[in-house]
Amino acid sequence: MPARELDAYDAEAPIFDATAFRLPKAEAALLEGVRGFGRRVLAPRAEQHDRDASFPLQNFRDMHAEGLLAICVPQEAGGAGASFASYCLAAAELGRYCGATALSWNMHVCSTLWTGALADALEMSAAERAEHNARRRLHYARIVGEGALYSQPFSEGGAAAAGAAPFGTEAKPVDGGFLVNGKKIFASLSGAADYYGVLCTERTQGDAAKRRNTLYLALPARANGVSVTGDWDPLGMRGTVSRTLLFKDVFVAEDEMLMPRGVYFRAATSWPHMFLTLSPTYMGLAQAAYDFTIAYLRGELPGTPPVKRRMFPTKQIAVAEMRVMLEQTKTLWFQAISEARANPSKEQVLRAYAAQYTVMENANALASKAIRTCGGQAMLKNLALERIYRDSRCGSLMLPWTAEICLDRLGRESLYEAGEQDD
Ligand SMILES: Cc1cc2nc3c(=O)[nH]c(=O)nc-3n(C[C@H](O)[C@H](O)[C@H](O)COP(=O)(O)OP(=O)(O)OC[C@H]3O[C@@H](n4cnc5c(N)ncnc54)[C@H](O)[C@@H]3O)c2cc1C
Repeated sequence: MPARELDAYDAEAPIFDATAFRLPKAEAALLEGVRGFGRRVLAPRAEQHDRDASFPLQNFRDMHAEGLLAICVPQEAGGAGASFASYCLAAAELGRYCGATALSWNMHVCSTLWTGALADALEMSAAERAEHNARRRLHYARIVGEGALYSQPFSEGGAAAAGAAPFGTEAKPVDGGFLVNGKKIFASLSGAADYYGVLCTERTQGDAAKRRNTLYLALPARANGVSVTGDWDPLGMRGTVSRTLLFKDVFVAEDEMLMPRGVYFRAATSWPHMFLTLSPTYMGLAQAAYDFTIAYLRGELPGTPPVKRRMFPTKQIAVAEMRVMLEQTKTLWFQAISEARANPSKEQVLRAYAAQYTVMENANALASKAIRTCGGQAMLKNLALERIYRDSRCGSLMLPWTAEICLDRLGRESLYEAGEQDD
């Protein structure tokens, strides 16, 4: 029998092969373009932004020219109209080349995905729908026309971003809009975004704060009363520049509502996969750690001497274990992003927690194994692996679906049906 011919090794193959994963032609073409952009534009700039902990603003200017800021803006509003799953696949491709840019891009894109395809699948009254459609046109026009950047500062350091308490940032209704007061920590794109997509609690004097009164507002970054404080010198994801935002009596006009009253709370409860959107960046980092290892052991990594290390059985076993972990991660994640929808079944929600946990933990496990397997010269700062290792460590910390919270919910919700209690 003739020996099976091996295909040539392709370091730039898509993470999800279009034929194997049955991707529609248009989606495969979109991903091809995004991958090329990541390789050509993001990769060469990633090291410097990581070293300086500087925001990659030029990447975002270039994304505007490429149409990527509007990837999830509906087509009728001038965007690419990408679905939840298409966006996730695209973000994974960018995460391969620059984790910090992909994660910051996620914050921006979610302001269009959540107000776009996701909101279209939510129940709204005719009046709410009309109000929402009119307001989102304003945001989409800024993004498509001017390249405006939106961010997603939700975290406050307490239980609110974990979904367990009302947001401490408050919006008091006043003539024509709201006065916003509060503080947001870890605000990616701080100082770079044009609008901060703030979650806050609408509260009139004397009312108790309630989660169902959460408002989602586009707070203009240059409004009076907005300040950016603190420094940003973290372990990984340094280019996200996630400093602290302070809001002191910031006036936000009513038209800046990104969702009508009550709709964000409805989205968070009936569209839980919206919180899976932090995972694509880390799916890309997992692939990047694997790609690095293959190229390095083959002696083909650009910028390193052509020394082959692939002939050692211990290295082959390590690569086999990495491949198993990568395939498991990809398959579970692909399934979870493919079944994202409004009102998913309990099984689908549990699978989404499992997918988030798996991607976030495995990205770092793969990077760690890559360093151990490739050896000392592979972890020098002039090579990408060291950055991939540090960036990937951040995944399991990201609220509201931290790795711990995913495990906590998976255990409890597997054992208890809704309303069940022990005596
Ligand atoms: C690189 C990077 C970029 C980020 N960018 C953004 C951003 O743009 N916008 C944004 O909003 N956030 C962002 N975050 C913030 C992130 O989601 C966390 O809020 C952040 O890591 C701060 O965490 P913490 O130490 O307050 O969290 P923790 O102390 O882990 O959690 C905060 C609170 O959540 C609750 N909680 C935590 N774990 C559990 C548990 N297991 N069970 C029950 N309750 C729990 C508790 O009330 C806890 O006090 C970013 C984080 C990183 C690392």
